[in-house]
Amino acid sequence: MIITEAKPIGEIIDSLKDYKKIFLIGCGECATTCKTGGKDELVKMQQELEKAGKVVLGSCIPDAPCIASQVKTELAKNMKLLRETEAVLVLACGLGVQSVKDNDRLGLPVLPSCNTLCGALVDAAGNFYEKCSMCGECVLGITAGICPVTLCAKNLLNGPCGGMNKGKCEVDSEKDCAWVLIYKELEKRKKLDELKKVQPPKDHKKTLKPRKIIMTNDKIQSTK
Ligand code: SF4
Ligand code: SF4
Repeated sequence: MIITEAKPIGEIIDSLKDYKKIFLIGCGECATTCKTGGKDELVKMQQELEKAGKVVLGSCIPDAPCIASQVKTELAKNMKLLRETEAVLVLACGLGVQSVKDNDRLGLPVLPSCNTLCGALVDAAGNFYEKCSMCGECVLGITAGICPVTLCAKNLLNGPCGGMNKGKCEVDSEKDCAWVLIYKELEKRKKLDELKKVQPPKDHKKTLKPRKIIMTNDKIQSTK
């Protein structure tokens, strides 16, 4: 899921300084889980904006505002209010904000209420763990399911740097060295031979941005 944090309220109000009538859009998936764009956050945001002299004309929470069909349905349902609106504040990740902008036929100013941090796993206790940097060439199959691109501070692909100290990372001594974790896991599986295979450098051309990714014959394909 995509992890977001709320921007400071002062920054949000400043971004809305030229607009009085505001419409709020939340997110029923990731931003609800992060408590940055669910029902409660929309209610709190409305109160804060009203305290700052704004008028909140309405709000909606598409399940996933990053999906065009869902955001279009919600925008169509609220068209009457949106015609009166001066700016839309989106309580979701950067994808949600841009999806609202791209699908808003009225061309309203669309502003973000959150900072988008990363993609992450969520455990049963609700903690978030950044584990994948979406590099486009997954090596988990040879690193025992532990991602060196994300968990190694230097993104090393062929074993540890010289700075590892007692199993900890030289960049952050609170953290385990990713390559020590990989070694231990491969040792457990009797697969240490995997480490003898030299990994080529990443082909960064594969992650030139923005990528356009399409679905052809039920297969995802990156066109860049
Ligand atoms: S190697 Fe790491 S960053 Fe790349 S796709 Fe796999 S998990 Fe994600
Ligand atoms: S100590 Fe380990 S995790 Fe830290 S930068 Fe070096 S190889 Fe990467």
